Amino acid sequence: MPLPHLDRPFDYAIPDELASTVVPGCRVKVRFAGRQRDGYVLEVAAGSDADRELSPLLKVVSSEPVLRPEIAAVIRDVADHYAGTFADVVRLAVPPRHGLTETADPPDHPSPHLPEGEPVVLPAYPHGASLLKVLGTEVAPRATLSLAPVARPLGDWVTALIEAATATLAAGRGVLLLVPDASDLARLEARCAEVFGRGSFVTLTAEKGPAARYRAFLAAARGQVRLVLGTRAAAFAPVADLGLIALFDDGDDSWAEPRAPYPHARVVAALRATRQRCGLLYVGYARSTETQAMADRDWLVPLELPGPARREACPVIRATDDGTALAGRDPAAHSRLPHEVFTTIRAGLASGPVLVQVPRAGYVAGLACARCRTIARCPSCGHPLAGERAERGPVPVCRACGVRPDWHCADCGSGELRAPRVGVVRTAEELGRAFPQTPVVQSSGDHPVAEVGAEPALVLATPGVEPVAVGGYAAAVLLDAEVLLARADLRAAEEAVRRWLAAVALVRGASDDGSVVVAGPASARAIQALVRLDPAGFAARELADRAEVGFPPVTRLVSLEGGVQAVEDAVGALHAETGATPLGPVPVSDGEVRAMLRAPLAAGSVLVAAVKAVQARRTAHKEEGSLRVRVDPAVL
Ligand SMILES: [Zn+2]
Ligand SMILES: [Zn+2]
Repeated sequence: MPLPHLDRPFDYAIPDELASTVVPGCRVKVRFAGRQRDGYVLEVAAGSDADRELSPLLKVVSSEPVLRPEIAAVIRDVADHYAGTFADVVRLAVPPRHGLTETADPPDHPSPHLPEGEPVVLPAYPHGASLLKVLGTEVAPRATLSLAPVARPLGDWVTALIEAATATLAAGRGVLLLVPDASDLARLEARCAEVFGRGSFVTLTAEKGPAARYRAFLAAARGQVRLVLGTRAAAFAPVADLGLIALFDDGDDSWAEPRAPYPHARVVAALRATRQRCGLLYVGYARSTETQAMADRDWLVPLELPGPARREACPVIRATDDGTALAGRDPAAHSRLPHEVFTTIRAGLASGPVLVQVPRAGYVAGLACARCRTIARCPSCGHPLAGERAERGPVPVCRACGVRPDWHCADCGSGELRAPRVGVVRTAEELGRAFPQTPVVQSSGDHPVAEVGAEPALVLATPGVEPVAVGGYAAAVLLDAEVLLARADLRAAEEAVRRWLAAVALVRGASDDGSVVVAGPASARAIQALVRLDPAGFAARELADRAEVGFPPVTRLVSLEGGVQAVEDAVGALHAETGATPLGPVPVSDGEVRAMLRAPLAAGSVLVAAVKAVQARRTAHKEEGSLRVRVDPAVL
């Protein structure tokens, strides 16, 4: 039952005529509170300690065991972690039944062909060779690999995942490979077909339609395949004898489930690796503060090239340090494109395509000091300030605690704020005029381009949809760095570094004259980290910052959204019960408000359990209006 006060297993009697068809994990119909309901059999037992006579199961929908006990245990862990219900999480984990697919003859699944060549990517990293040795064994290694961002085998995430999968499959264990989006999945799928052979694995994604998704799910659940690829929802895929979960780019927004209880696939993977005692590998160019926190606790082993090796392998990166065009002057009168951008593009076009990354408009704009460009933060809670439109420029407001501070820059004392601006269309026009003979390719969320050739071209792309260039880009230009940095989200800088590194990873290395220019202030910490190619050092400093202001992953944070009274009551009760610190409330929409509560990590599970109890009281008493709970929300 999705109601928090009924979130537990219930006992039913198995009528004799159904006895032969009931197995743990199968779908059944039962009567509950006078209504017929869908259910799963979690366990078949000889008796019950219920103090009443059991109602009988009404029907066995199918004897197919779609909810294995180990997955049911993971679902319970995820529900508890997020103050959600089992019913809500099982919806994410088990796809709807597709009867025809279930009764049809299953397609043939040959065993994966294991490549004979020696691995090249993972052994190039310190500890990479030892990781490969212990994958699939009882050691159950957990690691985070910061790939060198370069368009060379060393920076090839697909090969890194395939090498880890090969080692695990060779040890006789199952593998789950997770990627954030459809285009990454297409690349991984193509390479897996090449390496392991078609049909030797399945791809689990909702985008393939209900029949294909269910067919792939059944192949995994029936143990017909040992390798499963997929996006967010595949984190729960029932891979038999699971030896490894590997997840690419854990910082991507799309890992956060948009349905209650909003679990993040990074966390699902970690909970699952713990519960099932299997290997766990996060692979990416950037490092999230969350994985950094896990590494700090020695829960994950960090793998990365030492600084000098990294700089030798990757493109050379420079910052223009030119913010004049954004410093409150009329953007039409001053080019957003510093001189160095043009020289880099010109030099790059001599030997291949050049990538230009332009942030899209439409972010919730944050604010920066108009004089020294320091990001403006709330003086009471440390959250980055957002700007509300007003006649005389933006008025600062904190979206975390609701304060409208009389802001003054802690660095230079100025009281003047500005919101950085962006203009994709103008950039395209401006560059097109500057390089009239060069073909221009544009890739955006609405019209993504997957790949470009090796010939010279200007490739304009918004972050996240940069086409891959055959042989790598000769150069890349990262525009409007400040726009990404000044979003009113605690993760703004982390996200900016992740976006930039993803673009850098498409460029040739320094020895092939690959170069990158970032148009932004060299003094900004995120840009310094990019220039030094030091995502781990950056993540460590971000984590220290979070510790200072008391936001996740250093604390646990619960966001409560709903009607004023419901939120106020819940916050009051939770504060009284757990001592958690309230923030807000702030208005959101339709007269609703949002408040947050945060607690030290050690007290986090107490807070989350208390939140669940509040929800259970509300549903038990049929209180009106909804109260939406998010634990450790993806947007901070
Ligand atoms: Zn300032
Ligand atoms: Zn605040």
